[in-house]
Amino acid sequence: MRILAVGAHPDDLEILCAGTLAKYRARGDDVIMCHVANGDKGHFVIPPEELTRLRAQEAREAAAVIGAVCVAMDFLDVELYDTPDARERFIDMVRAARPDVVITHHPDDYHTDHQLASSLTIDATFSATVPHIKTAHAPLVKLPVVYLMDTLAGLNFQPTDYVDITDTLPHKVAMLSKHSSQLNWLQEHDNYNALDALETMAKFRGYQCGVKYAEGFIRYRVWGRNQPGYFLP
Ligand SMILES: [Zn+2]
Repeated sequence: MRILAVGAHPDDLEILCAGTLAKYRARGDDVIMCHVANGDKGHFVIPPEELTRLRAQEAREAAAVIGAVCVAMDFLDVELYDTPDARERFIDMVRAARPDVVITHHPDDYHTDHQLASSLTIDATFSATVPHIKTAHAPLVKLPVVYLMDTLAGLNFQPTDYVDITDTLPHKVAMLSKHSSQLNWLQEHDNYNALDALETMAKFRGYQCGVKYAEGFIRYRVWGRNQPGYFLP
């Protein structure tokens, strides 16, 4: 299968679903990790242009840990809007990935970039199948299955599905550790120890489903999206 994961910023996928992405890769699936915004504002000291380059490098190194493809949409932090241009770019991003499964943010996650990345991605998975919408890449022939990944700290999120990531937790830790600029920023700006939170959340979701470490997901179930089968690894 081809798996497209769309996170708002470089590091979101690592925090919220990287154990599952590692598991997809381990069984031979193709994984595309797309970050929508380039992370240019996520630091107290490093100026935006330099930070953009640094975070692109961090994202590539994190994806390389599991042999995933890294895709950058290069929107600016907190300057993502629902515009015709943004919609077209999301549709083309989805078409280029040709996914069977799409993972993205929950629409009620904490940050407007996360919320918009969610709604633009979900809408794009439908529009990508519509031939009269023209973009650089060819339309999809079928609707992908969509899963919503956990929210930051699990707030307002009740999983419908769990993935046992006990075996891939080390990959998840290694991937997030590549984002060293963010480990400092999140601590200083948000009082959030990202590596500690990663393990705490994995343990918390693990307790909910009877394994040591887990990630939680909600399957996006509306008309047309109830394809029979189970699509998580
Ligand atoms: Zn984010």
